[in-house]
Amino acid sequence: MRTKEDLFDLLKRNCEERMEDLFPKGIPRDIQSRYEREFERFRKTDAPEELYIYRVLSNLADSMQVPLIVHGTARNSLLTYLLGDGLVNPMKPYYYCKSCGHYERIPDYTYGVDAGPRFCLECGGLMHGEGFSLDERFVWGIDDTPKRIHFEYLSIIGFTEMARKNLCMAFNKRQVIPITDFNSKSGRTVLRGIGILPEERNNEINYDLTILDKGRIALLLSHEDVENMGITLVITSDSSQAQALYERIPRARSRYDMLGAPLPPSISKWKRIDWDGFLTEEELAVTSLLEPRSYEELVMNIVFAKRAMNRTLNSHRGYLIPSRDHLFRELLKYENDEDRAYEIAEYVGNGYAFNTERRQEWKQLCTTILMPLDLKKTCERFDSLGPEANILDQLLHVMI
Ligand SMILES: [Zn+2]
Repeated sequence: MRTKEDLFDLLKRNCEERMEDLFPKGIPRDIQSRYEREFERFRKTDAPEELYIYRVLSNLADSMQVPLIVHGTARNSLLTYLLGDGLVNPMKPYYYCKSCGHYERIPDYTYGVDAGPRFCLECGGLMHGEGFSLDERFVWGIDDTPKRIHFEYLSIIGFTEMARKNLCMAFNKRQVIPITDFNSKSGRTVLRGIGILPEERNNEINYDLTILDKGRIALLLSHEDVENMGITLVITSDSSQAQALYERIPRARSRYDMLGAPLPPSISKWKRIDWDGFLTEEELAVTSLLEPRSYEELVMNIVFAKRAMNRTLNSHRGYLIPSRDHLFRELLKYENDEDRAYEIAEYVGNGYAFNTERRQEWKQLCTTILMPLDLKKTCERFDSLGPEANILDQLLHVMI
């Protein structure tokens, strides 16, 4: 069995090999230092499993040629980008020339793709704008005890069982078994994901068993049981979006193979994207009313359409905040400290500014940051605000 140190070393090697592929003429300093910073924080979590599992599932999805959608802020990590399918590059926008190694940052853009392709000034090679400006603080936190990276996986029907088999091989001394929980609302047991049991089993806790389809056995465990028993829970679910994407994979694959890395098409072609499985017809109708000039605007429009259809459009005097990442960047425009902007964005993202019981706390926080009153009022209207990567991940899946 591999030790934790072995796993950290393995993942480090995987990341570094991928960086050499991506940056054959030398790794830009910005990227190298972000990588080192993130890896150090990752090591401090003392929990290599999460990224190792991601690596295993990513490889599986790749070999099965099925989409793997990741929910949560994990896509904000450069490590996730390096270890997975390479869809969402979280770096601040840049150009890199693979022929000569020329690197330059792209100011004034949030997404590199919006700056378009251009020729290298040093050697004339073609360069594409890359990076989606996703901050690593949302993954690792800012204090001395780093947050653990958190993944929630969505894929096609049947992926969970394949994932379980692959995790069995990857964790060969540990039992890997589906975990169900009782949902008091529906009165049924629901599949929560795959549990990787610790090597040393605690016999004092009794397991309840449930039977899944085809006679497969699952453990019935509450959230607390999973924590107490030291089980690593891999949250996976079937998704109709992933299923719809799967139908288009052969076309996507040929594009991917051709380019080596997926690149979004020019924004003028956005209407020709096959939206099936991502936007409903109604959401698409609303999105289509708003002509985006950039991918950044397209993401805003998608969120606008989704919120409008769910009647959860929450803005004050025209402020549209699609994600906690967007709020973070918005706060930086007022020359706020980055850590402080992150804290506010997390606070609002968790719905705390909306919670009237926390109103005093929120007012106190507002005195520590510069923001216009209308933005502050907008923040108070979100019962939650998701990560931008959730939209980007799916958007890039439909575009490749
Ligand atoms: Zn060049």
